[in-house]
Amino acid sequence: MYSLRRFASRHSRAYETVYNASSPIILSTLRVINKLVGERLNTPITWLEAKVKGVLFDCKMCGNCVLSSTGMTCPMNCPKTIRNGPCGGVRENGNCEVNADMKCVWVDAWDGAQKMQHSREIELIQFAPNQQHQGSSAWIRLSKESANIKLQDIELEVKP
Ligand code: SF4
Repeated sequence: MYSLRRFASRHSRAYETVYNASSPIILSTLRVINKLVGERLNTPITWLEAKVKGVLFDCKMCGNCVLSSTGMTCPMNCPKTIRNGPCGGVRENGNCEVNADMKCVWVDAWDGAQKMQHSREIELIQFAPNQQHQGSSAWIRLSKESANIKLQDIELEVKP
């Protein structure tokens, strides 16, 4: 999947367009599913996310997805799992100091981010991933968070 994940970094703009178009649909579908059947479909949804993002991005299911801020390049493929890279060990040819045959994930992330509409997002400091989310679905978590934000907006509107 190495070549596919590098393809995603090289075509980050196109992936960003697809992401921007599809994420509202995916998140609202998940909210509807959650309302209808609760958490009963969480396992197959998590499986689906792992398969889709595994093929496209070599996703490690950290559950704290930052792809849209890292040039459509999954930072969890960095052998040091650095979320704010690169480290000081990038080789002169742009490859990783740990795995000499692999392009540094953060070199790809930076190049990918430069092609994206929100190219400055890569400059944001990312928190360390919450280990309790490892293996869980970022899609489900985002759909719940966006539902909570909407609920808060409604409450703010109702309150005088
Ligand atoms: S940041 Fe986390 S959820 Fe997103 S692709 Fe990488 S491992 Fe998967």
